[in-house]
Amino acid sequence: MQTKKVIVGNWKMYKTIGESVAFVEKLLPIANRSTSQVMLAVPFTALERTATAARGSQLLIGAQNMHDAPEGAFTGEISAKMIVDAGGRFVLLGHSERRALFHESDDFINRKVKSALAAGLRPILCVGESLQEHESGRSQAVVEAQLKGSLAGISADQLHQLMVAYEPVWAIGTGKTATPAIAQAMHHQIRQQVGSIKILYGGSVKPENVKELLEQQDIDGVLVGGASLSLDSFVKIVDYRANCKT
Ligand code: PEP
Repeated sequence: MQTKKVIVGNWKMYKTIGESVAFVEKLLPIANRSTSQVMLAVPFTALERTATAARGSQLLIGAQNMHDAPEGAFTGEISAKMIVDAGGRFVLLGHSERRALFHESDDFINRKVKSALAAGLRPILCVGESLQEHESGRSQAVVEAQLKGSLAGISADQLHQLMVAYEPVWAIGTGKTATPAIAQAMHHQIRQQVGSIKILYGGSVKPENVKELLEQQDIDGVLVGGASLSLDSFVKIVDYRANCKT
């Protein structure tokens, strides 16, 4: 039996509420008949309305970030409980843009993973090396250390409630995809560390390269940025092997 592939869109800071709901309404029938699990990480402002539109369907709506504290004086921040309250089912944590632009450490991300799990939110933990780390042959060590730090104190049971996304930073939004062989080799290494949980690949995934990536043994899904913004290209990714039940 083939296991379900996971296809997650990350909209970053794009789309108004109206644009988000219109997209979700058109995506719903495709997500419902897909043999893959389809998920969308939307902006906070669109969370409640898109989650309401997707209620009862196969499409899961989630957030792109959260604070680790359950509540408090953290102006501008959002907690796991607030995401759950708005209908979010999962959250991206430790995305490379958060690590690089907002200086998030493995320690902080580790606290967020624990808070998300405590609130019943499924974390998708993002890891990946920079171009400089890649070119100096440190990719394996960097990813291993990020996983170790971000997952410190997480039990085997808790581990099964989360997913990991390997996103080499040099491949995000650059049009440069890691070759399927490079991605598979890193996923194999990650598998040794985290076991049988879902490991997704992210970095310039497009309709043209998704099939070959998903055919790799340890690639269980994809995290898609730019190509998830257009319904046409995202649907082509979801339907990568014309994988409809009907
Ligand atoms: C991402 O933001 O997680 C991502 C993988 O972006 P892109 O697909 O645009 O490279």
